[in-house]
Amino acid sequence: MGGTRFRLFVQPPFEDDLSRPEIITVSSPAGSLRVGPSDDSMYVIVPDGKARAYGLNIGPLGTPFLYLPPWQGRILAPAVPDRWGNFDHYRPDVPGFEAAHAFGCARFTLDVWERYLDRPLAWHFSDHYNRLEIDILPGWNNAQYGYGFLELGSQLDGDGGTLPFSLDFDIIAHEVGHAIIYGILGIPDAENEYPEYLGFQESFADCVSLIAAMHFPSVVENVLEETRGNLYLANRLARFSELSPHRQIRSANNKRTMADFVDGWKNEHDLSEPLTGAIFDSLVDIFHESLVSRGLISPEVAAFADAAQSDPSMEGLLQDEFDAAFARDAEGFADALLDARDVVGTYLAATLQILSPDQLDYGNVADAMLAADRMHSGGEFSDLLDSNFRRRHIGELHAGRRLASDAGARERRFTRTLLPTDSRSFPKMSYRENFLLRNNIRI
Ligand SMILES: [Zn+2]
Repeated sequence: MGGTRFRLFVQPPFEDDLSRPEIITVSSPAGSLRVGPSDDSMYVIVPDGKARAYGLNIGPLGTPFLYLPPWQGRILAPAVPDRWGNFDHYRPDVPGFEAAHAFGCARFTLDVWERYLDRPLAWHFSDHYNRLEIDILPGWNNAQYGYGFLELGSQLDGDGGTLPFSLDFDIIAHEVGHAIIYGILGIPDAENEYPEYLGFQESFADCVSLIAAMHFPSVVENVLEETRGNLYLANRLARFSELSPHRQIRSANNKRTMADFVDGWKNEHDLSEPLTGAIFDSLVDIFHESLVSRGLISPEVAAFADAAQSDPSMEGLLQDEFDAAFARDAEGFADALLDARDVVGTYLAATLQILSPDQLDYGNVADAMLAADRMHSGGEFSDLLDSNFRRRHIGELHAGRRLASDAGARERRFTRTLLPTDSRSFPKMSYRENFLLRNNIRI
């Protein structure tokens, strides 16, 4: 029995005018998906008249309340499978395409990571809900994952149009990354949550997105074509996107170290950069080792590539070496990159299963990745992992206190960690405020 076909944008159409969706098959058995799309573990809806995002909200008279799924109102344009059970008959600009696209991206990302984890993901909210609600909320300027929901808003572009996040693979995969962390690692007790746990969440979610994107054949092809294997030039690989609260492009190929955060930090996305940078550098180093062991570059060129990171004057010469080597065996380069991708994916999945969420810091993450390396390869990559973590002062220096944080940080945190039972501790809303809220009256 085959899987189910979707049309997915690997690169969102609003970032690249030439981007066309590709037909991708996900693991859902043919004919198993229902209208929505939906199945036994998740469903996509476009609510009609949903006035606010889920999570911690403030009532019209200032009383906080917890807003959780399921959406009970009317819905718009669900996607319907064709008679073979596929959704690839939905093309951009047809109602239902966004819903199909969001489901396809989420399922594709879960497929990749369930293979590395070697088990299906159990939702962290399974005590209260059987299924994840993925809802598309075009008027809301954000995207989020929380207790029972994955919500996709849009970004307003300069011309008054909207760029729906339901068409952005990176953002959906990033939010699925948070779902994986909560499902496997869990939530720390409030008093045992370290700042680096929050940075780890963002870093790991970015890595989930990056490694998942590397499963599109066109991504690997384009990156190698563009860089001829000199990955420090890579755009598609080295860049992640997440909006928080508006779109920002973070770079995996960054120079930040923990020394930048010892005096304090404001935003968990910035704090994630040293860890993401160390993981990206390790991916590149493992790729180089794989190229050397396949005889595609010499050990001298690999060492040269490492040195060129801190000496830009070497870049031209290095590119010449890569151009020549890539021209000799492009296919070998692709195989080496897929090997490196799978080593990092396997280690990150193992790391998630080794770690505990309480008092988690980046030193624990580094130790767990080294343990994963001993488990899977007898320590083949321990030197390069260790040196990449050291270069970022990971485990040696720690994030200081949180400085005045950006607007919405507190809400973001509560939205992810509050449980339905927590609403008992919220103040009771007056009849009047409740009436205003139910009727969407703002005063
Ligand atoms: Zn995030």
